[in-house]
Amino acid sequence: MKSARERFKIAGNAPMTAAKAAGLRKIPEVTKLVSLLSTLIVALAILIYVYFYGKKSRKSKAKLKKAVEFGLAEEPTTLHPKIDPAVCIGSSACVKACPQHDVLGLISGRGSLINASHCVGHGACAAACPVGAITLVFGNEKRGVDIPYVTTDFETNVKGVFIAGELGGMGLVRNAITQGRQAVEYISCFLKEKQRKPDGTYDVLIVGAGPAGIGASLAAMKAGLKFVTIEQGGVGGTILNYPRHKIVMTQPMDVPLHGKIKFKETTKEALLELFLGIIDGSGLKINTNEKMTALEENGGTFKVTTSKGEYLSKTVVLAIGRRGTPRKLGVPGEELSKVSYSLLDPEQHKACNIVVVGGGDSAVEAAMALSSCGNKVTLSYRGDALSRIKPGNRERLDKALAARQLTLHLKSNLKEIKAKEVQIDLDGKLSAIPNDFVYIFAGGELPNDFLRGIGVRVEKKFGTR
Ligand SMILES: Cc1cc2nc3c(=O)[nH]c(=O)nc-3n(C[C@H](O)[C@H](O)[C@H](O)COP(=O)(O)OP(=O)(O)OC[C@H]3O[C@@H](n4cnc5c(N)ncnc54)[C@H](O)[C@@H]3O)c2cc1C
Repeated sequence: MKSARERFKIAGNAPMTAAKAAGLRKIPEVTKLVSLLSTLIVALAILIYVYFYGKKSRKSKAKLKKAVEFGLAEEPTTLHPKIDPAVCIGSSACVKACPQHDVLGLISGRGSLINASHCVGHGACAAACPVGAITLVFGNEKRGVDIPYVTTDFETNVKGVFIAGELGGMGLVRNAITQGRQAVEYISCFLKEKQRKPDGTYDVLIVGAGPAGIGASLAAMKAGLKFVTIEQGGVGGTILNYPRHKIVMTQPMDVPLHGKIKFKETTKEALLELFLGIIDGSGLKINTNEKMTALEENGGTFKVTTSKGEYLSKTVVLAIGRRGTPRKLGVPGEELSKVSYSLLDPEQHKACNIVVVGGGDSAVEAAMALSSCGNKVTLSYRGDALSRIKPGNRERLDKALAARQLTLHLKSNLKEIKAKEVQIDLDGKLSAIPNDFVYIFAGGELPNDFLRGIGVRVEKKFGTR
């Protein structure tokens, strides 16, 4: 009798059926096919990745080239990202996080600033970077930027003078509101310590009613301080100068006497309406159309001179932003409502007679934008050449002049603005030109000169924090 082991062996060695043998032969072929297919899929995935990655990189390079051509590639002097290529892994998280169009892109697998001049220092890129390759900096190695020295409580080296908002180098609506509020909260504690006494002097004088000035004023009201806010223009600051319907990206913020604002995206108009509503609702009074012209310290109190009078205050919050005050020409008729110092929306004018005054990029860009909207534009500049403009603007202007899309008057001076015409001195001869609107781009008084004048220490930052 055969043992169980032998019986099993015999059964195990029994000849296979033809079908079973064929099936077994197929197994290595199927395995080969599967491995070939997987190799093909992986190769295809790599090819697709390389194609799209290369396409993205080429696109970004082309955008960067264009930005360089138009002089838009140089980093802004305000807060902007600096990307360390040795740390960047090319995740493109920064590109996706940036709320501004085409500021960042991927070039050769690394995040790059491709349209630096459009960066508003939102900082979303730095927060989104998974490997911490981005630092937010001021200025760059070649071009430094003046940033006033302030303590963590926003006080300058001139005791009692505080700086909040973009003037301190930190852009963005939320940051400005927060800094204005924090500066005044500190002042209110500091005045309590010094035992506030009721006298004719203000506790705090706030200059500027952009987001920082609004935050500071509402905080002063909440703290029960004796304060006054002056603003050279209208309430809203830089927001007033955003293009019509601009999408404003922001982050949740705490507004004194109102509470938390939670939205992350809104429009220029909705944001202004919200701020004006909060101001009205709180009963806050802001002295608009009143410009600070001088600030002097006198025995621990500040005398602030404005276009309308003088104030004495124990402390001053400068929330005046970085854009300064546009320079006026000082000609008759400049006060007419048809005269502006910035162009918000060229498309608001159609088939109008417009004079643009100035010889820099802002004037040239405004003149070309207005003429492309079907207006009859005269660009007037007192110099004998437009020597300061970017090469891209020069090229576009030359083309527009050759196509007679606008008129350029060099060595000309605007002498008088009337309701329906302007008087221009053209190389010594006075001419009347029909006119509906005047745009003046004659530079401005920059706040840093003012700061140095009152003794505030201003430091130059070269691509550093
Ligand atoms: C085109 C553009 C788009 C932007 N988009 C965004 C965005 O989407 N999201 C975002 O968060 N930020 C954005 N920003 C940035 C943001 O607008 C600013 O960071 C913010 O307005 C700074 O607030 P501020 O109060 O410090 O200064 P400002 O808003 O500049 O206000 C300063 C105020 O001070 C007044 N002033 C100046 N000098 C004097 C004087 N001598 N006397 C009296 N008053 C004076 C000015 O008239 C002005 O009203 C953008 C900026 C620009 C230019």
